[in-house]
Amino acid sequence: MTTQILEKAKAIMKNGYVCDHCLGRAFAQLTKGTTNAARGKAIRDVFAFSDDAGEKIDIDAVNLNDYVFRNAKNNAAKQKPTCKICGNLFDKLNDIMKKAMKKLFRFEYETFVVGTKVSGDIADREEVLWELIGTEYCEPVKAEINRELGKMIEKNTGKKADFENPDIVVLLDMDKNEIEIKPSQIWIYGLYQKLVRGIPQTKWPCRHCNGRGCKICKQKGKMYATSVEEIVAKPLIKTAKASGSSFHGSGREDINARCLGWRPFVMELQHPVKRKLRLKEMENAINKDRRVKVKLIKFCNKDTARKIKAAKLTKTYKIVVKFEKPVGKEDIKKIMGIKDLVKQRTPVRVAHRRADLIRERRILKLTGRITSRKEAEFVIKTEAGMYIKELVTGDDGRTEPSFTGVINNKAKVKALDVVEIEKIKV
Ligand SMILES: [Zn+2]
Ligand SMILES: [Zn+2]
Repeated sequence: MTTQILEKAKAIMKNGYVCDHCLGRAFAQLTKGTTNAARGKAIRDVFAFSDDAGEKIDIDAVNLNDYVFRNAKNNAAKQKPTCKICGNLFDKLNDIMKKAMKKLFRFEYETFVVGTKVSGDIADREEVLWELIGTEYCEPVKAEINRELGKMIEKNTGKKADFENPDIVVLLDMDKNEIEIKPSQIWIYGLYQKLVRGIPQTKWPCRHCNGRGCKICKQKGKMYATSVEEIVAKPLIKTAKASGSSFHGSGREDINARCLGWRPFVMELQHPVKRKLRLKEMENAINKDRRVKVKLIKFCNKDTARKIKAAKLTKTYKIVVKFEKPVGKEDIKKIMGIKDLVKQRTPVRVAHRRADLIRERRILKLTGRITSRKEAEFVIKTEAGMYIKELVTGDDGRTEPSFTGVINNKAKVKALDVVEIEKIKV
């Protein structure tokens, strides 16, 4: 039998007391299905037997404090010694668990994980020990705390530890002696229609005060009274008792455009206390607001939000176009003849936030009919990213071809609706 293990153990117990957890943790990578405390106890037993058998064991006697010997004398003081690595932290785990339980109580969750920020001095002492005995069989103290605390919480709550996708993270900060409960976000995939003009998709902070509230925004901190985001979020935040939300839309329509096609979105709820939301009920609550209509499809994750934001979906628009001069059937025919690639230099109206470049988008379908002397209605299906307003006006030659250009009659969009959005598989 090699004495490598015993030599390491001897080095650990040489000066001062080390608890079973810290002793066993130095051999955590050896054997499975046991605990560090059991590993530590097993090794300590060997030293106690040797001591009782009269062998010279060469460790600090305080480490054998708990034994009742047949032959050897136990000279150590009888009060419980303090572990030189962890300061008997593991004795406090039960109290820490109770404290965590008190905080967890109000949260709805099925799975959790424990994370620990070990205090600086314990980490330092662990480093010193590793230098002495090497790290080959060791495990960091925080891994043991996370696991042992996790087991206790599992036992007391019936909830399951989940390291990949926990509903809740229990964060133990040893320096601050604090436990923080961090529920992970709720992600909901849905589709929306915007049935009215004049509200933006997302909350738009007042540009004069940056959302703090000023005279111009009447202390509301925002440019518009509400938004699709706020209408959808309100019942969800209330029911989930969430701290806030983020809206991830697959593109967006203009403030003055309706969106009658179903636009994909993901709603993210931050720090939810309740997470067993009934989507059908939530959907009904949101749909009481007549300005927006939603279908809440399912719970999803961050990847879904990323996916729908990146999706390039074909859209169909219905637009009312006003012309400067009267239009005839021939004009409409000419416009319907725009079938090629449309080249669009970044429009003036978005130039402040988009790179100045020329992009090409294809019109997939274009039909139109005259509705009055100077007005016509068109249905346009295009690839994602077409600037519709500029397709109509020509944007002073930046968009080519354009309605204005092909009939030499200044045209502009009077009203715009998104009537259909390509479906996406989520
Ligand atoms: Zn210890
Ligand atoms: Zn303001």
